[in-house]
Amino acid sequence: MATICITGGCGFIGSALVRHVFATTDFNIVNIDALTYAANPSNVAEAAHSPRYTLVQADITDGNAMREVLRTHKPIGIIHLAAESHVDRSIDGPAAFIHTNVLGTSVLLEAARDYARTLPETERTAFRFHHVSTDEVFGALGPTDAPFTETTPYAPRSPYSASKAASDMLAHAWYHTYGLNVVLSNCSNNYGPYQYPEKLIPITLIRALHGQPIQIYGKGANIRDWLHVADHAEALWQVFTRGKTGESYAIGGNAERSNVSLVQNLCTLLDDLAPRQNGTPYSSLITFVEDRAGHDFRYAINPAKIKAELGWQPRYTFEAGLRETVQWYLGNQAWWQPTVDLATQRLGNA
Ligand code: NAD
Repeated sequence: MATICITGGCGFIGSALVRHVFATTDFNIVNIDALTYAANPSNVAEAAHSPRYTLVQADITDGNAMREVLRTHKPIGIIHLAAESHVDRSIDGPAAFIHTNVLGTSVLLEAARDYARTLPETERTAFRFHHVSTDEVFGALGPTDAPFTETTPYAPRSPYSASKAASDMLAHAWYHTYGLNVVLSNCSNNYGPYQYPEKLIPITLIRALHGQPIQIYGKGANIRDWLHVADHAEALWQVFTRGKTGESYAIGGNAERSNVSLVQNLCTLLDDLAPRQNGTPYSSLITFVEDRAGHDFRYAINPAKIKAELGWQPRYTFEAGLRETVQWYLGNQAWWQPTVDLATQRLGNA
């Protein structure tokens, strides 16, 4: 059976993709991951002992290592998710984001181009590079602006989104200049199991369960569109296998929520599923803190293209997905507890 490479497959979304491809196809999977703080190999435990799965611990900025992986495993394509992904960390230290997201993507594109050149004509044109990106590259929307589409001009405003925008441009350039079979996707905020506890949903749940203040940036009015990570994984597979070469696909969940309403929603679910012993509601822990620098007000996605062309739409409703996610964090303390002391004490809103 054919092989695909997934970069960042021990992270939140990459591991959901590994689980999806492992469970629903016969493909062999080569997971290229540097195993940074955000990685956890146990996220793909279902696949880990299968002969169909190989984990290569390597950094995408290491061109020799990338060329070696491709030469050895001869994949039919790469789905590239490895990145530094947390906006707050990008504000504190942008260099790592430029290194991995920009330089790393260029190194991987070059390794892919070199490898594709060794293939016979039909395999070369079929060899696909799927670059996975974010809606944050489009900048910030006002309350009544139309949602982002594939043709929205790029206007990134944080070091994270600027580094992702740069990597998107590189992917487009390798398609137009070198004819590499590139496809892109830009997705809204993901939620679900196995998300590292520095992002808004897991850190809110964990703080609440520890009786600590649940911090919200500014007034909590910032709006994000939320998509369950399993729905994103399915969308990525559709784009990788059926998307049009050279094109982008905007992926979203049609679930816009302000941060404060999301946090209140989480508190209500916890009140129901794990009531506090002192009888007070979890929402009494909510506190508002100084806003994030340059905090984008709103992101929203119009996913009409991926629905029309590839027939994809989310399976989860936001309500069902969020409840299931809360249940997962309640039932998997052994997964997140070891990360809590290492995690930043600040709340991520993206
Ligand atoms: P994550 O931080 O959970 O995981 C990133 C993974 O990449 C980790 O396993 C890490 O070890 C690996 N990695 C980091 N630097 C590496 C390097 N130099 N070489 C090899 N591996 C490296 O990230 P995530 O939330 O799963 O996001 C995955 C991708 O999806 C990113 O490209 C991100 O920009 C994009 N994205 C994320 C969201 C979201 O809501 N989380 C939304 C849209 C798009």
